[in-house]
Amino acid sequence: MSNPLKTFRSSVLTKPLMNWYKGVLPPLSDTEAQALEAGDVWWEAELMSGKPDWSKFSDFQQQPFSQAEQSFIKGPVAEFCSMLDNFEIEHEKLDLPEEAWAFLKANKFFGMIIPEDYEGLGFSASAHSEVVKRIATCNVSAAVTVMVPNSLGPGELLMLYGTSEQKSHYLPRLARGEEIPCFALTGVEAGSDASAMTATGIVSEGEWNGEKTLGIRLNWEKRYTTLGPVATLIGLAFKLHDPDHLLGDEDDLGITVGLVPTDLPGVKIGDRHLPTGLAFQNGPSWGEDVFIPMDQILGGKEQIGQGWKMLMGALAAGRGISLPSLSTAAAQVSAKTTGAYARVREQFGIPIGKFEGVQEKLAPIAANAYQLEAARRFMTMGLDLGHHPGVASAIMKYHATERMRETINDAMDIHGGKGICVGPDNYLEAPYRAIPIGITVEGANILTRSLIIFGQGAIRCHPYILEEMKAVSLDDEDEALKTFDDLLWKHVGHDVANAFRSWWHGLTRGRFAHAPDDKPLEEHYYRELSQFSAHLAIASEISLGILGGALKFKESISARLGDVLAELFLLSAALKRFEEDGTPEEDRPYLDYLFAEGTARMQRDLAAVADNFPNSFFGWLIKTLTQTGGSPRKGASDRLMAKVAKLAQTPGASRSRLATGVFEGDPNGPICALEKALKLSVAIQPLRDRLKESQTTDTKSALEQELISLEEYDRLTDWQAAVRRVIEVNSFDPDLLRGDVEAETSSIKEGVASA
Ligand SMILES: Cc1cc2nc3c(=O)[nH]c(=O)nc-3n(C[C@H](O)[C@H](O)[C@H](O)COP(=O)(O)OP(=O)(O)OC[C@H]3O[C@@H](n4cnc5c(N)ncnc54)[C@H](O)[C@@H]3O)c2cc1C
Repeated sequence: MSNPLKTFRSSVLTKPLMNWYKGVLPPLSDTEAQALEAGDVWWEAELMSGKPDWSKFSDFQQQPFSQAEQSFIKGPVAEFCSMLDNFEIEHEKLDLPEEAWAFLKANKFFGMIIPEDYEGLGFSASAHSEVVKRIATCNVSAAVTVMVPNSLGPGELLMLYGTSEQKSHYLPRLARGEEIPCFALTGVEAGSDASAMTATGIVSEGEWNGEKTLGIRLNWEKRYTTLGPVATLIGLAFKLHDPDHLLGDEDDLGITVGLVPTDLPGVKIGDRHLPTGLAFQNGPSWGEDVFIPMDQILGGKEQIGQGWKMLMGALAAGRGISLPSLSTAAAQVSAKTTGAYARVREQFGIPIGKFEGVQEKLAPIAANAYQLEAARRFMTMGLDLGHHPGVASAIMKYHATERMRETINDAMDIHGGKGICVGPDNYLEAPYRAIPIGITVEGANILTRSLIIFGQGAIRCHPYILEEMKAVSLDDEDEALKTFDDLLWKHVGHDVANAFRSWWHGLTRGRFAHAPDDKPLEEHYYRELSQFSAHLAIASEISLGILGGALKFKESISARLGDVLAELFLLSAALKRFEEDGTPEEDRPYLDYLFAEGTARMQRDLAAVADNFPNSFFGWLIKTLTQTGGSPRKGASDRLMAKVAKLAQTPGASRSRLATGVFEGDPNGPICALEKALKLSVAIQPLRDRLKESQTTDTKSALEQELISLEEYDRLTDWQAAVRRVIEVNSFDPDLLRGDVEAETSSIKEGVASA
């Protein structure tokens, strides 16, 4: 029997609300709808809920690497790293040496994610990321070369969507390095907006292996394709048309992905772009009437028109691995080298790292390195649990590359001229040039922040909205009303609870916010996260409810809410790392610094959402519910900043953890030299203090006056030589330079002429 109260509620309240709801729903383009369906959600959904379930959080555990993964990291990865000469690759050869290419293929670096059944290495996401990160600490172009075949390349697409014939044919060949893959989505018109794609495929008859067969005639002009110039197999995204209706009634069949061998007639590859002059292979490709049979459609006929969904699904994982691994490497190298340099380099008679101005830059470098390693591990933990979280991986892509940018820029500042002069001893210059690449690829950052993170997060991570959207679009109106009614009133209850929770936690500064009982020393971090999760939930709800589809065009509001979600995700990761590392007290300043800065940023972002909200009443409401009570968060104090900066300059377990996995390279190379100079600088300090007290700075006269022993004199000389080695920069014979410049310029001109 139906409940009369429910029937009344449904017809008097729910029905008009359902009609209103339909009106405010954001109109979704095809590509947006497919993006929303791709992948799933993970911890970020808990953070959006307003009351994260901390028992779920404690269940996430880092799995140790398998025996095979450990051996690979210690063996082939270390050997490969020692083969790489950064300067030679980035400035002389503009390519990896032939032996490096051969080594990568022979040791199956291109098949890390391909299952063992298909002759790949079958590594976990965390091992895959660790390998890319370690390589990136030595050379960014080598890391990009390894990264691409292991993401969209199209190995992952084949694994997810390939037919069994395609998998059996291509995966072993990709794993053995017999095929070099690339993925070509971007064209001249279509950058961020894939729907502007001009690459076309026309269903038609053609010849394949000497026989007439049904297939697709492709025409394209693609650019920016990584590994494109050396690829043997292109994963090509194009719009498929069937004007002669050879497949059915429809003309436009949508974005489709084809597997295109590069030796087919009509394919032109080989020209190279030089992205910020880095050496990895990247270039345009052209196809003129290239014929492929239907079997070469990725996933076969069933996957016609599913290209965008496939890409979004694969990116949902890939975005969480590739660029976050590169960014972590850059941040860790920056922290390791800048910490050492700040201690070794002296001006005005003291190490520059003792100046507060330098500490202001060094502290965020160290904290970012800690944060990015934490986030990289946390994200891959989620991927290894089988999730494909599109929102979390977009957060990782955007925030890892932005923090990398911040970190390298600060590291350059602290290094002064040493960071600017190019040469074999400059370990910052190649990562510096890589910054805009990380920012631009796999979803350019402005777009990712403004449109994707919150735009998708608000719907994907919300406990009810996606289900409500599905309910209102049901054909059966009675069923639609019944389902919507059920969801709507749960949704209302959820909002009322969050409104109160947010206001109360603001008022009491999170003192009563939820935290696990068994973590007394970490309780306050959990409380902060719970408090801001409640603030985010209610601010999002009001924004969605009032702005609806218009939120898509209020990019700054959307971006700020996305920043809060991202901050919560990153801080959760930092907390998880601290616990996984065994809560080492000496690392606590990193966590304190990150929480102090992160909560201040979140508070500012929420205030800015309220201040800029298009409707002033609801702006006031957001402010009241998220900012009531307590004093404004001030960020990290100068004292905390100094503590963090000191950790980065002090040899020991904490500093080693900060740079875990960084490859130091050649024992005579710049990073080992820096480490040696740091150790000597710290060890020699008491002796230098003694000399200073005796007001003698000249070591020779100190020896003559017998203020120091011969052994102490030798130690001082060793230290001076070590420091000198570090503060030197490279210089070049001008004749040599002129030769190189001419050679490089003419090859670029030839390239332009041939294009
Ligand atoms: C080195 C390198 C390697 C690459 N590798 C590959 C590859 O292997 N395969 C491949 O297919 N592609 C590749 N790309 C292409 C890359 O993915 C694109 O460059 C990227 O999608 C952006 O496109 P665009 O450069 O045309 O910029 P545009 O799309 O023109 O964007 C310009 C700016 O506008 C912003 N913007 C655009 N729309 C919005 C919006 N709605 N709201 C806010 N901001 C917006 C963007 O964020 C960006 O800052 C590569 C690019 C480079 C540089």
